[in-house]
Amino acid sequence: MAKPRAAVFSMTSCEGCSLAILECENELLDVLEHVEFVEWREAMSEKTTEPIDIVFVDGSVSTHHDIKYIKRIRERARMLVPIGACAVNGSVNALKNRYGMNEAKEIVYGEAGAQFDTIPVRPIRAVVPVEFEIPGCPMNSEEFLRIVRDLLLGKKPRLPNYPVCVECKRKENVCVFEKGMFCMGPVARAGCGADCPSYGGWCEACRGFVDNPNEQAHWEVLQERGLTPEEVMQRFDIFCAWEIEDRRARAQQEKKE
Ligand code: SF4
Ligand code: SF4
Ligand code: SF4
Repeated sequence: MAKPRAAVFSMTSCEGCSLAILECENELLDVLEHVEFVEWREAMSEKTTEPIDIVFVDGSVSTHHDIKYIKRIRERARMLVPIGACAVNGSVNALKNRYGMNEAKEIVYGEAGAQFDTIPVRPIRAVVPVEFEIPGCPMNSEEFLRIVRDLLLGKKPRLPNYPVCVECKRKENVCVFEKGMFCMGPVARAGCGADCPSYGGWCEACRGFVDNPNEQAHWEVLQERGLTPEEVMQRFDIFCAWEIEDRRARAQQEKKE
């Protein structure tokens, strides 16, 4: 039986999530026994115009070119799987959406910005349907391997739907709030093993929000701990600016209906 054909593509991103697949060093040969990669810029020079069974894409939709590009990929892909925060929820790229596009271009490029094609950032699922999404900045290689295995077996993969704090407590970390730091762990989706608090940092919610996060309660906690409303907004915005706007837009729509 022919192996499923796979490909990796990138849009507006650092391509770190494409690289994260290459980092599955010990498992990659096993993966290649079950899957044939037919296009993957960071790993091979071959290209294809044929249909593809499973396509992984990192990066946000951030230009008119990206819209055409992802629609063409969708037409050829049996399964489309966005990988990484840029592709799954817009990530830090969506901070641009807090400005007018002309203003954003001018801030970054000055007068030269006028020549660039830029539109408000969206994750891939806001433009075309997707089969599954793998969050994180970068995505977690072990989680990628588990999800690919499930997809190839025809099983529906699952992501943890509880906050990073749960994993952090399991590791018996001292909460960074006790060290005078601020953390997004109570509203962020687990699955990374609470990496950042485990190594002395704070969670920035790179995996996006857990389903139905209690944003208001966490907002109040951060303010009680001394952040101004503007600083709280900046913490929420780092990785979740698009998610926040999307949630608000949907809530307004539901009110109207
Ligand atoms: S999610 Fe992070 S690592 Fe992945 S492509 Fe985007 S910026 Fe790079
Ligand atoms: S450090 Fe962050 S993730 Fe860990 S328990 Fe405290 S708030 Fe939660
Ligand atoms: S702790 Fe938070 S910021 Fe760090 S990897 Fe996990 S979800 Fe991302």
